[in-house]
Amino acid sequence: MDSFDVLVIGGGPGGYVAAIRSAQLGMRTAVVDEWKTENGKPALGGTCLNVGCIPSKALLDSSHHFEFITRHAKAHGIKVGDAHYDLGLMMQRKNKVVQTLTQGIATLFRKHKVEWLQGHARLVGNLQVEIRPHDKDEKQTVSAAHIIIATGSVPGSIPQAPIDQKHIVDSTGALCFSEAPKRLGVIGAGVIGLELGSLWRRLGSEVIVLEALPDFLPSADHDIARAALKTLVQQGLTITLGARVSETQVTGKGVTLHYQQRGEEQDLSVDKIIVAVGRKPYTETLNIEALGIETDAHGFIGVDDYCRTRVPNIYAIGDVVRGPMLAHKAQEEGMAVAEHIAGQASFVDHDTVPWVIYTWPEIAWVGKTEHSLKAAGVEFRSGSFPFLASGRARAMGETEGLVKVIADAKSDRVLGVHIFGANASELIAETVLAMAFEGDSEDIARTIHAHPTLAEALHEAALAAKGRPIHI
Ligand code: FAD
Ligand code: AMP
Repeated sequence: MDSFDVLVIGGGPGGYVAAIRSAQLGMRTAVVDEWKTENGKPALGGTCLNVGCIPSKALLDSSHHFEFITRHAKAHGIKVGDAHYDLGLMMQRKNKVVQTLTQGIATLFRKHKVEWLQGHARLVGNLQVEIRPHDKDEKQTVSAAHIIIATGSVPGSIPQAPIDQKHIVDSTGALCFSEAPKRLGVIGAGVIGLELGSLWRRLGSEVIVLEALPDFLPSADHDIARAALKTLVQQGLTITLGARVSETQVTGKGVTLHYQQRGEEQDLSVDKIIVAVGRKPYTETLNIEALGIETDAHGFIGVDDYCRTRVPNIYAIGDVVRGPMLAHKAQEEGMAVAEHIAGQASFVDHDTVPWVIYTWPEIAWVGKTEHSLKAAGVEFRSGSFPFLASGRARAMGETEGLVKVIADAKSDRVLGVHIFGANASELIAETVLAMAFEGDSEDIARTIHAHPTLAEALHEAALAAKGRPIHI
């Protein structure tokens, strides 16, 4: 029986990073992964690279360029005739981006001598894993000194809208439509619903988003959520809050949605529906119960701060455990676990995991919100700065949005930063670093920011938190 120091189950961002780091630390490492592309080829990278972060951002970027040409170029004095897009070519580009990156992981594995075992893994006890290869009937059993479960997550679903990948699709189906639906319903105004809704709106669909909760993005800063809602609606998205979908009927022409809003039954007819009601951890057929590994009410595997399960030498990371379902969180846990196995005391600080929603403008935040601090009775000061007052934002024609810096009233330590604006996904990195280094708002206020840049808005928000903004 083949034996490894570290065997990782799942080759997504959590698993592949755990494997590379384990190999860097001198451990003999293998990854079992069952992912197959639609052409039946095994591929590394998991959800994120194949049907998540990367293809969604490739299409969001393409559609963003299209929107710039059709809606905003004129304001820059650029005249373009009738602009059209070729969705087939756009999809081909997206597929190429995905293929290049997933093949890149395979190259990294070869470089680090990480073995890639293709097939389905099942835990069979005694730190042994049974692998059912894709192309052979006979199973293989391997053993390992340490096992890392990184099996990720799958799209959540609701019985009221069963996925058929034709009329009612999940996020995977929504990334390969052959044409923009005329009328598109999106169930769920969370991260994925807003990104996919924005994408298809830019490509010409009339998009109606139905959200069961009465508030828009309740976990984001309230000022940011309010500003983002206003802008997204101005852009043409219809966002209906407090609307719980109760039934869907596929008709000859499309789908009829029934939903309840303020106690009243409402109907909506659309061509297609994207179900974006969250994701659920994936542990099916992994046989963890037989080993005594517990899952909580939502299906997440129970782990401690070091991602250890109840079974010695079995760890779990990424979307399959507690915490935000984000690729970078999975990657950091992958590195930390590899280092923990190698005898280091690494762990991930969940308080400094940044969140990004790739609408345009983008929404990004790290740390606490004002409402969560108020609820916890923490005294704080906050400072905001609108992009409208930023020279660079004016020059770019990107004046939507604001930055907010929140600091502890006594210690001045940065507790949270919230951004709605162009390139927020990049701007947030500086503040994550500030928080990771336990920085104060005074540290950001005294840091020199190049002029003219969007990052100056962050500088000004930190100055505002200290009561001395210059440009407003
Ligand atoms: P996954 O990426 O889900 O990988 C798990 C792997 O394990 C898969 O390859 C699976 O086939 C394999 N596997 C499962 N069970 C077995 C088994 N028994 N045997 C063998 N192999 C198995 N996150 C961000 O941070 N930024 C974004 O912009 C972003 N955009 C997203 C957009 C969309 C449309 C979606 C759907 C998700 C997005 N995410 C984003 C979330 C991100 O994709 C996940 O957080 C991330 O992929 C989790 O990584 P993971 O390694 O835990 O699991
Ligand atoms: P996220 O978990 O960020 O992907 O967001 C998923 C969103 O879907 C949440 O805001 C849920 O409130 C919403 N949601 C879940 N079920 C329904 C439903 N039946 N109708 C409308 N929205 C829903």
